[in-house]
Amino acid sequence: MESNIKLKNRITVLSGIGEKKAAMFSRLGINTVRSLIYYYPRYYEDWQNVSTVLNAPFGEKTTVKVKISGSTVSRPTRSGGTIYTTFGTDGTAILKIIIFNNKYAAEKLTPGDEFILHGVIGGTFSQREITSPDIKKATDSEGIYPVYGCTKGLNSNAISIAIKKALDKVIPTMEDPLPLTLREKYTLCELTDALKNIHFPESFEKLEDARRRLAFEELLILQLGMFRLRNRVRSNDGYIIDKNKVDEFYPLLPFNLTTAQSTAVNETLNDMSSGLVMNRLLEGDVGSGKTAVAAALMFTTAKSGMQCAFMAPTSILASQHFDTLKEIYKNSNIRIELLVGSMSAKAKNDIYHRLKSGEIDILVGTHTLFQKKVEFANLGLVITDEQHRFGVAQRNALTSKGKSPHLLVMTATPIPRTLSLAIFGDLDISILDALPKGRQPIDTYCVTTEYRERIYNFIKKHIAEGRQAYIVCPAVEESEGDLVSAKEYFEVLQKGVFKGYNIGLLHGKMSEKEKNAVMQDFCDNKISLLISTTVVEVGVDVPNSVIMAIENAERFGLSQLHQLRGRVGRGKYKSYCILISDIKSDEAKMRFDVLCNSTDGFKIAEADLKQRGAGDFFGKRQHGLPELKIADLIKDTAIIKESGKAAKDILSDDPLLESEENKYLNILVGRLFNQNGEALN
Ligand code: ADP
Ligand code: MG
Repeated sequence: MESNIKLKNRITVLSGIGEKKAAMFSRLGINTVRSLIYYYPRYYEDWQNVSTVLNAPFGEKTTVKVKISGSTVSRPTRSGGTIYTTFGTDGTAILKIIIFNNKYAAEKLTPGDEFILHGVIGGTFSQREITSPDIKKATDSEGIYPVYGCTKGLNSNAISIAIKKALDKVIPTMEDPLPLTLREKYTLCELTDALKNIHFPESFEKLEDARRRLAFEELLILQLGMFRLRNRVRSNDGYIIDKNKVDEFYPLLPFNLTTAQSTAVNETLNDMSSGLVMNRLLEGDVGSGKTAVAAALMFTTAKSGMQCAFMAPTSILASQHFDTLKEIYKNSNIRIELLVGSMSAKAKNDIYHRLKSGEIDILVGTHTLFQKKVEFANLGLVITDEQHRFGVAQRNALTSKGKSPHLLVMTATPIPRTLSLAIFGDLDISILDALPKGRQPIDTYCVTTEYRERIYNFIKKHIAEGRQAYIVCPAVEESEGDLVSAKEYFEVLQKGVFKGYNIGLLHGKMSEKEKNAVMQDFCDNKISLLISTTVVEVGVDVPNSVIMAIENAERFGLSQLHQLRGRVGRGKYKSYCILISDIKSDEAKMRFDVLCNSTDGFKIAEADLKQRGAGDFFGKRQHGLPELKIADLIKDTAIIKESGKAAKDILSDDPLLESEENKYLNILVGRLFNQNGEALN
C-alpha cells in the first residue's frame, strides 16, 4: 500500500526496506518516513563541472568523463590486498584508473562503457592517474551529489536512494507549515522545493535557498516556542515589590557592592516594582559576585512580603549558597531554609508545611524545588543559578509554582548577543562586567607531567601558609587509558607525597551526604588539598584556596577550564592555575594559549564558541534546547534575526497560534518542545 504513505509511517512502508535495513537506518536515528526525509546530507560533492582529462587540475577533486579503454588488471599488494588498474580516455588524454581492494568497483568498469569519475587527479603530465575515485555511470546526470553520514551496511548512496523514494511518495501530499504570506514576505521557497533541493540540488543557488528556508523554519519554530514558553513576559500582573527596602540590606554585607553589582540590583528592582513580570538574565564572569546581587533581591522581595526560590544545579552548590546567605542574613529576620534530596523525610515535610503556610521567606535547593509537594504561599521571585544547566521547561515548571513570579536567571557563561536572543528570547539582560576590587590576577601556566613534583612542592608551600588547593582529574574511577582518575590519584597522593596532610576526595559518584561533608570540611579548611572531578566546576566559593591544578587539561573545553580556574582567585590572596598536559596538538595548545593570556570570560566564551560550534558549546544536556538539524546558531545570525522578528509578529496577531493559517506551526512548536507532539500528516 505505497500509495498512501504518511510521514509518521515507519520506513518499512517503502519498497526495498525490510526489517533488516530498517534496523540499520535506526542506528542513524531514522525510524519514520519523516525522520528519513529530514536526514540532511553532511556535505555535497560537485560533479557538475566535468573537465577534460588533459585540463584536469592536479591535486584537486575533479570530475572527468571517460570511456574505459582496456580491461582491468589485478595484482596483489605486499600487505595482502589487491590493486586493480585500468585505463580510460575522453579523447584528450589517457587516464590510469587505480582502485584498491574494491573488486566490486573495479568490475563495474567494463571496457567500452562510459563513466563519470570523481576524485583527485595525480601522476605525471605524461601519465595522469586517478586513485579510488567515486564512480557513476555516464548516463546518470552530472550534478551536485549529497553525501550522508553512513553506518555499517548502509552507504551514502543507499540512503540517497531511500530518501528519493520517500520524497517521491510524500511530496505530492505535503503541506507547507509556513503560511504563504510569511514565505512571500521573507522570500522563502516552498517546503517541498526546499526538501528536494537540500537532498538533490539542481544548483548551488537552489541549495542555498533550500538551506535558508529550512533553517528559517527551524529557528522560527524554536523562537515561537521560546516566546510562548514565556508568554508571561508581557503580562502585567507582576508582584510589586517595595524597592526601598533594599536600603536595609546593604549594612548586612561585609563589603560594598561594586558599581556593576549596584547597577544590576537597580535594574532588577526597577523591573520588580514596575508592575510587569520580570524576566531577566544576569550574566557575570566567574567571581563577579552574582550571589550578592541575588541576596539583595531576595531580601527586598522577602521584606515586601513575598517568598523566593533560589535554585542551584548541584546540592553542593545549594548547600553552599544556603550557608553564604544565612551568614549574610544573620542580623535580619529573614527566614531561610535549604531543601536537598539527602534530608530526612521528616525534615522535608516540616519544610513543605512551613513553606505553604508562609513561614519561610527563602527556599534554597536543587531540582528538588520542582517537586509537587513543594508549594509556596506566595512565590514572588525565582532565581536560578548557573542557568545553562537547567532546561527552559524546568525553569518554567518552577515559575508555575507561583501566580507569576519574577524570574532572574544567572549565568557565568557569557553569551554573544545574537545567540542569547535565540536562546533566551525576550529575557532582559544585566551584565556584571567588573570583578570586585582588590582581586589579584590569577597566574596561569601550562606544564607537562614532568613538573608534577614541583607542583606538589608548590602546593605544600602554600598549605604551610594556611592556604588551600584543588587538583582536578577528568575521570572518577578507573583510569581510562592514560586518563588520570580522581580516586586513584587521591590514594596515591594520600599514601605518598601528601602523607600526613589533610587531603580530600570529591566526585559525582559519591552520595549527596558524602559530597556535602567533604565540601564542608574544605570550606572549614579541615581539608587542605581537594582532589576532585569537575563537580567543583560550578560556583563553588572557597576564597582561601589559591591553587587550581588540572590534570589532563586537554580533556576540558575552554569555558570549562575557565570555570575551574574561577574556583581560585576569589579572595585577597594571589592565586595560580596550572594546566597539566602532555598533549601537544595544535587544538589543545590553542586552548591553553587563550587561557594563559586572558582572564576575560566573554573573550574566552567567544573563542570557545568559534572552536566548538554552538551545538557543543551549549550541549543539549546543558541548555535544554531542542537539537537543531540545519540552522547554525553562530553562522545564521541574519536568519535568527529575521525569524525572531517573524515569530514576534506571528504571536502578536495570534498568541496561541489558533488560526487556520498557523495550525501547522502550532503542531511543530508542540512537537519540538514535547516529545509526544502530534503527527503532522
Ligand atoms: P560568582 O559571580 O562567580 O557567583 P560569587 O557570588 O560567588 O561569584 O562571589 C565571589 C566572591 O566574591 C565571594 O567570596 C564573595 O563574597 C566576593 N564578593 C562578591 N561581591 C563582592 C564585593 N562587592 N566586594 C568584595 N568581595 C565581593
Ligand atoms: Mg556563583
